[in-house]
Amino acid sequence: MEGTVYRSTGSWYEVRTATNRLFSCRLKGKFKIKGLKVTNPIAVGDFVKFEVESGNDNQGIINEIVPRKNYLIRKSVHKAEHAHLLASNLDYLIFIFTLHSPRTSLGFLDRFLVSAETFRIPVLIIMNKIDLCDEDDLETLDALAYLYEGLGYECLKTSAEENIGLETLKSKIANKTVLISGHSGVGKSTLLNALDPELDLPTNEISDFASKGVHTTTFAEMFDFGDNTRIIDSPGIKELGLMEVKEAELGHYFPEFRALLGKCKYHNCIHVNEPKCIVKEYVENGKISESRYLSYLSMYQNDDNRR
Ligand code: GDP
Ligand code: ZN
Repeated sequence: MEGTVYRSTGSWYEVRTATNRLFSCRLKGKFKIKGLKVTNPIAVGDFVKFEVESGNDNQGIINEIVPRKNYLIRKSVHKAEHAHLLASNLDYLIFIFTLHSPRTSLGFLDRFLVSAETFRIPVLIIMNKIDLCDEDDLETLDALAYLYEGLGYECLKTSAEENIGLETLKSKIANKTVLISGHSGVGKSTLLNALDPELDLPTNEISDFASKGVHTTTFAEMFDFGDNTRIIDSPGIKELGLMEVKEAELGHYFPEFRALLGKCKYHNCIHVNEPKCIVKEYVENGKISESRYLSYLSMYQNDDNRR
């Protein structure tokens, strides 16, 4: 039999077949990803082959993981140098951004985008809660959408509360497997419920958005939306580390810097203090956004990324 992993809780995996049968599966043997130490061998989104256990036809033993087209990992909290697999076989990463309640910083968004670049997965930035925006806010969002769409990231304004933009969202994710992420409280559960009221996910009723960090989900979980659309809600995504980014390579994951590759005076220019740096020139004359450059500097200076 074969199927897709929808949920993993420790050593059991919930696998759904194409005909919608559900199996609880365990793993036989050891699986390794070439050149990578992982704390968990299987992720939500994996396509696996398994044998039904004799005597219990709701259980199976996984004996093969079909090669992944991509995967998301983060640094393991427990073991240094190890990675934790978050999800695999993704068509889209959705990042939910909110100007207020809570405020999402551009630094947080840019860090996410760099991760997405390292995994080579397309991104959709959803600007949610636009019903809370005044005219100035909407102008700010338009300017941000202009900036990020210019860099190759799709943007969409939505209000989960007032049902704005949801039809467009539906059409964008149709027939895709997408992972949804963003700060707690930005409206992930509300959006999913609005897309499919039958889901009935619990939402955080946080009255004070300054108090971040309330999780309603602890394990990554995949949901079906219609026939061929799947959404993964992954609580671990926040700590999405930049584990494969070496400091000298960080600029490769900023598309607007990448476009200038080889144009600085020094071929190994890291765009910080070097003379005749074209990236810094572009920042000074406004061709590269200052906020993006500041995000770059802050990521560059963060010790976590110097691996
Ligand atoms: P999650 O932590 O990302 O899953 O966020 P929730 O879906 O739990 O939403 C957090 C709070 O924001 C809830 O009180 C929602 O009702 C509210 N919320 C979600 N989307 C919107 C929206 O588009 N507009 C407004 N005004 N509130 C929203
Ligand atoms: Zn440079």
